[in-house]
Amino acid sequence: MATSNIVESARKEGRSALTEIEAKQLLKKIGIDTTDIKLARTKKEAVDCAKGFGFPVVLKIVSPDILHKSDVGGVKLNLNSATEVGKAYSEILASARKHKPKAKIDGVSVQPMARPGTEVIIGMTKDAQFAPVLMFGLGGILVEVLKDVSFRIVPLVKRDAREMIHEIKGYPVLEGYRGQEPANIEVLENLLLKVSDYVDKHPEIKELDINPIFAYKDGALAVDARVILES
Ligand code: ADP
Ligand code: MG
Repeated sequence: MATSNIVESARKEGRSALTEIEAKQLLKKIGIDTTDIKLARTKKEAVDCAKGFGFPVVLKIVSPDILHKSDVGGVKLNLNSATEVGKAYSEILASARKHKPKAKIDGVSVQPMARPGTEVIIGMTKDAQFAPVLMFGLGGILVEVLKDVSFRIVPLVKRDAREMIHEIKGYPVLEGYRGQEPANIEVLENLLLKVSDYVDKHPEIKELDINPIFAYKDGALAVDARVILES
């Protein structure tokens, strides 16, 4: 499916938010690696998907009305058996319904548990003149508390991508701080350029967030993704 079809099918349903499943399909289309992900509409489907991927897996709520899945108890990590998957499925649905009784719930997504890496984030928002701006930062506490992020206006050239990554204060973390696996900077640069190129050509995208991306020495994997369309 072309990225335009993913966007169109959401539009037809009157939605401005893509689900994580759709957002990851879109990222794959533009050449960004993501975790595999499947929608389960029943507990049995969730268990079957998990067995298909192999344990451990992650379960997450899938709802166009829930953008911050952890806030509603909608993410369960590191599930190691069919029993754990079944229990997580019920808990996620119960918790999401309790927090957001009016949300339309598609089901629960199943995805393999990704190998830990350095968490980074890439975001796109539009400035007051509606120009897309890319943000890069480290994930987790550093980005939330210290706002250690860099910005560039789209379209980026290679040099912009390079500078964005080098200018964050947490850059040494990417080089492999205290024995941690270093991140592949070139892979991250290319990721920024791919997002820049895509949003530059697709003004229908209002916001795009890949949060987090796990950065490794030999690649990077989008673990969560959110896309909002212009109305
Ligand atoms: P939210 O909608 O709350 O941002 P996320 O999908 O980002 O939900 O999940 C919350 C956290 O769980 C992530 O920041 C990441 O650390 C972890 N996580 C999510 N998916 C995976 C996965 N497939 N493998 C490993 N960790 C994951
Ligand atoms: Mg997230």
